[in-house]
Amino acid sequence: MEQNKDINQIDIPLAKRTYLKNHNSILLKKLLIFSPFIFLLFSLFSLSFIRKLELDQFINLDFQTKRKGDHRILGHLPYKETPMEKLVFIETNIKVHVDMRDSLLKMREEAKKDGIYLVFLSGYRSINLQNEIFYSLKSLRNQEAAERARVSAPPGYSEHSTGFAIDIGDATQRGTDFETEFENTEAFKWLEKNAAKFHFKLSFKKNNKYIDYEPWHWRYEGSIEALKVFEGSNRK
Ligand SMILES: [Zn+2]
Repeated sequence: MEQNKDINQIDIPLAKRTYLKNHNSILLKKLLIFSPFIFLLFSLFSLSFIRKLELDQFINLDFQTKRKGDHRILGHLPYKETPMEKLVFIETNIKVHVDMRDSLLKMREEAKKDGIYLVFLSGYRSINLQNEIFYSLKSLRNQEAAERARVSAPPGYSEHSTGFAIDIGDATQRGTDFETEFENTEAFKWLEKNAAKFHFKLSFKKNNKYIDYEPWHWRYEGSIEALKVFEGSNRK
């Protein structure tokens, strides 16, 4: 026991102490030598991490602007005016794009067979006419542009200037022309059930974020040209 005590007190602790001391100082030296590199590595890592975060944010922002960047004005998408040579009369005062004439007239015929009398109210409108409608009605009603845009497109932003849009009424209930109540007519119910067969679709449904519900306003998507025109609108 005593022997052990001696050994512990004299040999081993001393040896241990010197060893530990040496080891610590070597480690400290190593740390001192490498600390600038460790610091550099850490800085580089942090920098690249911050950059990645910033880049992610930028990509997100870019994505958002791309999604929002559909050139809307007050909720309406821009549409070009269809050239005159592509427009044909379907009534004495209503012109539409030649691509949709046959389908539209066929739809009216088929409706008649079911005892439904569709009446065409408005087809192609030039940007000039849309200009008059938008600005004269706006001032008449003492409305601001944003309010007016809920019920009428600003010039250059109307589906009507493409020739592929048609406003439809019920010949037996003319009081509902251009009114939300049109949705209660037999004509609207028939259209809801059958218009897709003729490649017509309701443009402004009830839950539209920007534009008021227009049960009378239908657009044609039965030709490649029409599909191209409405591609942006269908993508959203
Ligand atoms: Zn319309």
